[in-house]
Amino acid sequence: MKLKVREKEIVPERVFCIGMNYAEHVKELGNALPESPVIFMKPGSCLVPAGEKVPFPSHGEDLHYEAELVVLIGREGRPQSEGEAMDFIGGLSLGLDLTLRDVQRGLRKKGHPWEVAKAFDGSAPVGSFIPFDNSIDLAGLTFRCLVNGELRQEGKTADMIFPVERLIYEIGKVWLLKEGDLIYTGTPCGVASLNEGDVINVEGEMFGAFSWTMG
Ligand code: MG
Repeated sequence: MKLKVREKEIVPERVFCIGMNYAEHVKELGNALPESPVIFMKPGSCLVPAGEKVPFPSHGEDLHYEAELVVLIGREGRPQSEGEAMDFIGGLSLGLDLTLRDVQRGLRKKGHPWEVAKAFDGSAPVGSFIPFDNSIDLAGLTFRCLVNGELRQEGKTADMIFPVERLIYEIGKVWLLKEGDLIYTGTPCGVASLNEGDVINVEGEMFGAFSWTMG
């Protein structure tokens, strides 16, 4: 999948994802609140542009949608503070962190990594990006997820445990940020199972509406 960053076409290689970043979602999964951001990754090959079919994975039973705000990194470097992190944002969109919940539960129990449950082909549908400028209030964004027209999730970035700036700063401590990196910032409560043929819509006033069909 190609993205446009400052007139350049970039094929994103890295998708950083944040787990458990909304308290109500952490509760619905029965987990303890994290003390620092929970970071995992998916390869860029997981991305699916809006309007395309998402392949239904065959190595698990219980596929969940997780609607999330997605941040596009617009330049290379390492922010030295949360304040500086804003300067690295190239764009914003919405996406889905698709998760095989039954597989994830099994991996968690064994203390194993999550990739098989979260980083499979097609696991990161993503919409098109709106450009970011500093007048956008990152803590004032809202988005919704609908499955077959039924409202399932309502997200407010004000409810994030770790705000966007903190996430970028923390990721930058570990990895030199690169143009085209994506950050999925966590999902609000309301996650549930998907079936083949389901139509998922993710939308927000600032972003427009994006749609994917499963299977
Ligand atoms: Mg997620």
